[in-house]
Amino acid sequence: MSNQEAASASNFIRQIIERDLAEGKNDGKVATRFPPEPNGYLHLGHAKSICLNFGIAQDFNGTCNLRFDDTNPEKESQEYIDAIMEDVRWLGFEWNRLCYASDYFERLYAFAEDLIRAGKAYVCDLNAEQMREYRGTLTEPGRNSPYRDRSVAENLDLFRRMRAGEFESGSRVLRAKIDMASPNINLRDPTLYRIRKGASHHQTGEAWAIYPMYDYTHALSDALEGITHSLCTLEFEDHRPLYDWCVENVDVPARPYQYEFARLNLEFTVLSKRKLTELVNEGHVEGWDDPRMPTIAGIRRRGFPPEAIREFCARIGVTKSDGLVEIAMLENCVRESLDTNAPRAMAVLRPLKVVITNYPDDRIEDITAANHPKDASMGSRTVPFTRELYIDREDFVEVAPNKKWKRLTLGGEVRLRNAYVIRCDEAVKGADGRIEELRCSYDPATLGANPEGRKVKGVIHWVSASHGVPAEIRLYDRLFNVPNPGAAKDRDWRQDLNPESLVVLQGMVEPSLARAAAGARFQFEREGYFCVDTRDSARERPVFNRTITLRDTWAKIAGKGD
Ligand code: ATP
Ligand code: MG
Repeated sequence: MSNQEAASASNFIRQIIERDLAEGKNDGKVATRFPPEPNGYLHLGHAKSICLNFGIAQDFNGTCNLRFDDTNPEKESQEYIDAIMEDVRWLGFEWNRLCYASDYFERLYAFAEDLIRAGKAYVCDLNAEQMREYRGTLTEPGRNSPYRDRSVAENLDLFRRMRAGEFESGSRVLRAKIDMASPNINLRDPTLYRIRKGASHHQTGEAWAIYPMYDYTHALSDALEGITHSLCTLEFEDHRPLYDWCVENVDVPARPYQYEFARLNLEFTVLSKRKLTELVNEGHVEGWDDPRMPTIAGIRRRGFPPEAIREFCARIGVTKSDGLVEIAMLENCVRESLDTNAPRAMAVLRPLKVVITNYPDDRIEDITAANHPKDASMGSRTVPFTRELYIDREDFVEVAPNKKWKRLTLGGEVRLRNAYVIRCDEAVKGADGRIEELRCSYDPATLGANPEGRKVKGVIHWVSASHGVPAEIRLYDRLFNVPNPGAAKDRDWRQDLNPESLVVLQGMVEPSLARAAAGARFQFEREGYFCVDTRDSARERPVFNRTITLRDTWAKIAGKGD
């Protein structure tokens, strides 16, 4: 998708709002809400909805509520409520009002009695299986329930006794009396209330033995909060007539309208709470905030900046057509943000000892290194240079494999970033033939200078062996190794998990990083972007998570990129 396409795509709901404002609807007010059910952690799909709802409120001088759609007490918890609030704030948004659908239980109950009195709702004693049978199919109309013509008095009596806890869960429901022959199955006398005896609700405790259903609750909560534009994903398109029925048949203070947009589907990722719950419960990841998870908690711990997520949501736009968004779009937003904002540092991921034989044993030189090559305002730091250093094992081979090799070779030269040119004189090997140490010599005339006639093309990073800090480095990669996990025939999505999505290394980082704050983000020069893990990192023993590589290494594999 080009930027222009994205810009016009993102206009479809905004265009509706602009038109409504031009027509003077809702007294010029725009009120939206983000309505998660607190039954799991938010993921990148929710971020799309958050950026849309809160973004519209910001841009049209309106309001956006955070509303917990909490009508399923068994699956919900305070843990999820707290996490959702933290995630919305981290994305950079603040709600107008914090609401719970359960705040309205008493009023929703009164509305239901109104519907009964108006002959528009009835108590039905069919069990779940009978209900299914009576409902009909997509091609056949349903049949009226034998309980459909109960008197108002009997319905009121039964409904009140449902509330009082006189009946067992599943024994009765309250249904809207709409049309069992409707081509839209959602209008075939949908359930409005069900019995959940003995359930304990995180907000209302044991106060209720009956709970309202999602469609009824959602529509009327929108109306009670004065929501003008109720934005939801496309799977609710068929529910819109029921949404409208609810707000038109109940005496609510305002008339909200529902609009649907395509949900976010992202390559190499699953975005459904059910699958994410399974990843956690089956131990494929270490928790909801595992840095490989597409949850907000996961990407935060991974080091994705919130502005990169907002930018990504702006670029993908909001449309009516389902598609699979390229993961490269997200990754590029992350890289662009980190390239601009992350200070540079040096870290050696696979340490190989280098001894500079002509450098004094007791000397420590403070080398000045810029924190950002393109942004002087980010200042500089000093990095200690000593006789013993570490470089990365991958930056040395005895004999160059080809002409492109610019790193160190036996007898060859390379520049140590920000410091001197060294030459490798000897590779010391252990009994197993593995290289244990490089003995090198340095050229004192090369600090920050290239003496005439000397052509040293390669530059590699390094860390002082005596002053560097051992660190655990967690190399995270995509959790799945195919764009559309589980899409292939007869294949379970778990079979597409990437077995190399986490590789743990014991590295050495420059001393300035020992003091880095939890969550701080850096570019480890030549390696990628990393952040201090917020859970496991300790002062003496820092842990860094790889946020993302410097370039798209998967494009190469797929033959797409450079
Ligand atoms: P899931 O399908 O993952 O279980 P959900 O729709 O059940 O998610 P809710 O807590 O009900 O999760 O979602 C809150 C809001 O976020 C809803 O308005 C929903 O439409 C929206 N949302 C959820 N998933 C996506 C997605 N992938 N893309 C865009 N919006 C989404
Ligand atoms: Mg939902």
